[in-house]
Parts: sequence; C-alpha cells; structure tokens
Amino acid sequence: LWDGILGHLKERLTRPTFETWIKPASAQRFEEDRLVIRTPNPFARSWLQQHYAGAIAQAGEQVVGRPIHVDFVVSDHVEETPKRVPERESAPPAPSNNGASLNSKYTFSRFVVGANNRMAHATALAVAEMPGCNYNPLFLCGGVGLGKTHLMQAIGHYRLESDPKTRIAYISTERFTNELIEAIRRDSMQNFREHYRRVDLLMIDDIQFIEGKEYTQEEFFHTFNALYEAGKQIVIASDRPPQLIPHLQERLSSRFSMGLITDIQQPDLETRMAILQKKAEYENMFVPQEVIHHIASAYTSNIRELEGALIRAVAYVSISGLPMTVETISPILSPPRTRGEITDEAILDLVCNEMKVTLEDLRSESRRRDISQARQMCMYLLRKYTDLSLPKIGQALGGKDHTTVLYAIDKIDQSRSRDPEVQRLLNGLCNRLEADAR
Ligand code: ADP
Ligand code: MG
Repeated sequence: LWDGILGHLKERLTRPTFETWIKPASAQRFEEDRLVIRTPNPFARSWLQQHYAGAIAQAGEQVVGRPIHVDFVVSDHVEETPKRVPERESAPPAPSNNGASLNSKYTFSRFVVGANNRMAHATALAVAEMPGCNYNPLFLCGGVGLGKTHLMQAIGHYRLESDPKTRIAYISTERFTNELIEAIRRDSMQNFREHYRRVDLLMIDDIQFIEGKEYTQEEFFHTFNALYEAGKQIVIASDRPPQLIPHLQERLSSRFSMGLITDIQQPDLETRMAILQKKAEYENMFVPQEVIHHIASAYTSNIRELEGALIRAVAYVSISGLPMTVETISPILSPPRTRGEITDEAILDLVCNEMKVTLEDLRSESRRRDISQARQMCMYLLRKYTDLSLPKIGQALGGKDHTTVLYAIDKIDQSRSRDPEVQRLLNGLCNRLEADAR
C-alpha cells in the first residue's frame, strides 16, 4: 500500500518536497481504512499533517479503491520531553467512541484563554463539567479559524476522560447532511435516527452550512428535540449567530437561541503570542521571542493562518540552515491583509440583505427604528473597512452630513458594549465581510 502511495505522490509532488517530507516517512499500520504513518520527529509529523495529509489520503484512496483516513505518529525512538502531554496519536488507537473522531490536539489544555474567548471557554468548560445542566444548547459562534472546532472538541475529550462510556458524536453539518442522504438512499433512516438520538453529547460543527437545506433542517430539528427532551447536551458551532443564517427555519433558529450563544472574537496581540508560544512548546520548536512577536503582529484574524506561518518559518529555517531571526523569516510571511478589499458596495449589500432593508430605505430620511439602525450600521462598517472620509460616507447614504455619520458611529460603538444583541449582529456582519473578502 505504502509503495503504491509513494508512486502516486512522486508524480504529484515536486522532488524536493517528496525527498524532504515523504521519503523519511513510512507506513506503520493499516487497519479499518485507517493508515498510520510513522514520521521521524514531531516537526515532520505536524508538517505532514498540515500540508500533505490530503494528498496522502487521496493517493491512498486511489490505491485501495475507497476513502481512507490518515494519521501520523512520531517514531518510537524520539523521547518526549516530560513537559509534553502524551499524545493520543502515539498511543495505540483509542477505542472508537461511537465514531466521534476528535482531533487529539483539540483539548482544553492546549487552548489559550484570552480576552477574546474567555466567555466561550468558561461556558464550554461548564458544559464539559455538567453536560445538559447549564447551557443547552451551547451555541459557539465566531469567524473562521478562531477556535470554535477546537473548543467544541475539547468538550468531547473532557467528557470521554471523565466518563469513558459516555456516548458522544462530533459531526460537521456537511457530514450530517451526507449521512442523511446516504441513509435515505439505503433505506436505513431508522439506523440514522437511532444513532444520533442515542448519544449523550452531540456536537455539530459549522451549522451555517445547513442554510437552505430543508430536509436536513427537518431531520436535525427532530434530532435536536429528542436529545434536548432527554436532557442530553447539544453543542453547536457556527461562523455567525442563528439569526444571520439565511434560510434557516424559524423553529430551528429559536431552538438554537434557547440556551446560550457565546462568541469568540479576534485575539489581541498578547493572546496571539501566547498561542504561538504554546504551539512552539508542544511541537518542540525553539522560536525566539522577537520572532513570535513578529509573526503574531503579521497575522491578526485567523489562528489557523497564524500557526501556519509559524510552521512555515520553522521549516524554512531548518531547510535553509539560516538562523531563526525576524529578517530571515520575513520573506515567507504573507503581507498583512489590507482593508481595501472590502468594498462599500459589499457593505451596503450585506446590510440590506441581513437587516432586511432596501438601499432606498438607507438613503432615505426615514427614522423608522430598523432603518436607522441599519443605516448607522452601514456608516460604522464603512468607517471600519473602507478609506472613505466621513463626508463621503454621508454621501453614500443619501447625502447625510458628516456629523450625522460621526453620531452614528458613536451610537453603534455605545450600543455594542451595552447590548449583546447588537454586538452579535455586528460580529456576524464583520465575519461575513471578512470571509467574503478572502
Ligand atoms: P474554527 O473552527 O473556528 O474555524 P479551529 O478550532 O479549527 O477554528 O482553530 C483553528 C486553529 O487554531 C486550530 O489549530 C486550533 O487549535 C487553533 N486555535 C484556535 N484558537 C486557539 C486558542 N485559543 N488556543 C490555542 N490554539 C487555538
Ligand atoms: Mg471549525
């Protein structure tokens, strides 16, 4: 099998990549469609995992003729420093807990708490300690790469540790949909329903993808109710709050809001540095403080990219033989994203759609509450994301003068700190804009 995979990869990857990363690795075992690959050191493991897991799985699929799952372990001769928590990957495969495939790194101990995620972390921990009691459902929302999946899976790990017999399911909305379609096709709805309605903890990720999928919504609604009524914990993650998920049935939206909605914001510099520091420690990488600071300053809005930059820097230094300094790694960091990518049109469009007003309303003199809130929101977002001057912003909204614009921005700023509803709405809009600008 491994030789077959090597054959495919050799064709697909460049020679240096193949020689540096693939060749030193080997297959350790292959069981139940799970291929475990042995790597020479922790760094190679995380590099392969992040960059080539997909390619290897694809090559494997071509060889075996069905999808396979790949995992990486570090060869046995590498001593783990006492500081590191033993990794699940290097231990014998954990008994499959009802098919919930959790990433062994996504634990509470590896989650850095900062001002941006303190609430989300605290509530997740509360749910992990007393599932079904406090916040049900727990609805985690936040932009791409800010740690929703990590936090959600941490709850799963915690539950399994305190009660290995507990039945948990972690599933992406996409997979839920696919399994549902498959169940219909195979006429096995009974099994499907029993499977998800029997668990003690259901974690469903990226629920925003349920938008417009009527049948999935229908089925999920019943799953939700069955679990909820049985006092089982439900955790949901989404890149935006329920009311901003388009075409979401009202009854689902209201159920999602029944427990607690908590959001994760973008991390500040200090938190980003702490995350890099922790990552470097776990991966046994030595990275000077200035370099940590430099990388943390360049990547502000997505922790996945932040970590990716660190890995790239370490790889670059180890391959090039250069010292790890701010100067040597600068060329491999991508330039920080500029604000200009979010256009005024995109902002007006989004606000109209999400807040159910028309462009005409926005530009009118109407003082209707919903319209003036939407108008103020536009002004706020235009100020935040574009280079338009205050008078220009006023013009874009039907010729308001710049003091009106200033007032509006101030108003949103104040109400977001007082009113969690406004804060949530604003976060949702910002996340959406930033995601679309990618
Ligand atoms: P999301 O699901 O919100 O898109 P993820 O949970 O997949 O984001 O997180 C992206 C990456 O960032 C993961 O590797 C995760 O471990 C890491 N990460 C996010 N937040 C934190 C944090 N607070 N501390 C440590 N690592 C984090
Ligand atoms: Mg996620």
